[in-house]
Amino acid sequence: MTIEQIITKVKKNNPKKDVELLKLAYDFAEKAHKGQKRQTGEPYIQHSLHTAFILAQMKADINTIIAGILHDIPEDTKHTLGEIEKNFGKEVSTLVRGITKLSKIKYRGVERYVESLRKMFLAMANDLRVIIIKFADRLHNLRTLDVLPEKKRERIARETLEIYAPIAGLLGMWHLKWQMEDLCFKHLYPEEFKKIEYKYEVEKKVERNQYIKKVKNILNKKLKEEGVENSITSRFKHLFSIYKKMLAKKRKFDEIYDVFALRIIVKNIPDCYKVLGIIHTLWKPKSDRFKDYIALPKPNGYRSLHTTVYGPGGKATEFQIRTKEMNNEALYGIAAHWYYKESEGRGKNISALNHVSGQVDKSKQPHWIKEILDLQLNIKDTHDFIKQVKFDVFRDRIFVFSPKGDVYDLPEDATPIDFAYSVHTDIGNKCAGALINDKMTPLDAKLKSGEVVEIIIDKNRKYPNRDWLKFVKTQKARNKIKQSSRLSRLETIKKFIPKI
Ligand code: MN
Repeated sequence: MTIEQIITKVKKNNPKKDVELLKLAYDFAEKAHKGQKRQTGEPYIQHSLHTAFILAQMKADINTIIAGILHDIPEDTKHTLGEIEKNFGKEVSTLVRGITKLSKIKYRGVERYVESLRKMFLAMANDLRVIIIKFADRLHNLRTLDVLPEKKRERIARETLEIYAPIAGLLGMWHLKWQMEDLCFKHLYPEEFKKIEYKYEVEKKVERNQYIKKVKNILNKKLKEEGVENSITSRFKHLFSIYKKMLAKKRKFDEIYDVFALRIIVKNIPDCYKVLGIIHTLWKPKSDRFKDYIALPKPNGYRSLHTTVYGPGGKATEFQIRTKEMNNEALYGIAAHWYYKESEGRGKNISALNHVSGQVDKSKQPHWIKEILDLQLNIKDTHDFIKQVKFDVFRDRIFVFSPKGDVYDLPEDATPIDFAYSVHTDIGNKCAGALINDKMTPLDAKLKSGEVVEIIIDKNRKYPNRDWLKFVKTQKARNKIKQSSRLSRLETIKKFIPKI
């Protein structure tokens, strides 16, 4: 990967874009990472460039791409955030700082913390673009996972599957979600992956390609006659979803993978319906499989026409017909919007942002996810999304770690005592001191998201200090302190009651 490839990509999306700063960022990163190597043996800068390229493919704005190139500098080189700010401005340095913060969130395989980690991930990002850079970074790491030791490989794949992929789905970024999931699938279930990949890539490939070619030929001729500009792609493969369906329905590959699927992208909405009409005159539709999500978008905002017809040889063939704009929204979700905003100021036309809940059983979603979904429907500006999420959904909440990496969700301004009681009543009662990020701190210190809190206990201590009531924030800590000190007072009183 070279910086020129990234520049070409940026220019293709936006020919007038000034790429000078991009070149400077490359020079800076190249020097900063000089001599460092990835586990693959490649120069480190390759990772930075690949991350930036993924962002350019997603049509990210220039500052996001620059932050992508610089994202590992504060943590892995001697250069600081201050230097980044001086050279590339406040916006870029804020993005890079955000990525550094997010990298502290790690999934350590404890199922019951998954939900909190997802929340924390969203709550700690100060800008939606931080999350997207983190996804691009992770995607490239997954692509080069082979060289890592098995344990680490598994941890990263598991973390991606549990934390990153669901958030990508939540933000409607299906394209990223599927790529991440297939890479994790390959590492976590290598046998099953190989079997399904073989069937998809080898056994079915020739048949599929020939068939799709045939359909394309017939259709293209007709569309040309009618003067409809279009591009036809066969759908993005997603092996992990085939695998999950096989498991859930206890079926074989052939029973799941039985439909050929094509996507047709056209210029505008009238053309969508025109193409639909042409397809239905060429081949007989299956009556129950026609869906007009343009007139009636899915609750999450997804728009497209879907129809399944008996194609050549009577084979079931599914078509999805949509405009370019609808396609970008469906693939990149909320991220698609900065593109429209940047390029032509078309943001106003976009009806809904998200493509989120489509495949999920809504009743099983945690409450906070529902709130985010509602927000997505109502917020038109991508950049305000995270701010709003934090304000409405995570209002006044912070997330801190125990030394083992467990996550605790506490109200803003919570103290080590609140943390101690949320871990266990005994830990609260016996609390004698606290370390925040390995430093001794007063017990009334205000905790901040991302901090690691360790409580020192005094085993001989029986009751908490009533003075703690002056600063604790949680109801739980308050109640427990009152309860215990009532007991302690009782004991004191007993001592003074003369024995008869
Ligand atoms: Mn990285």
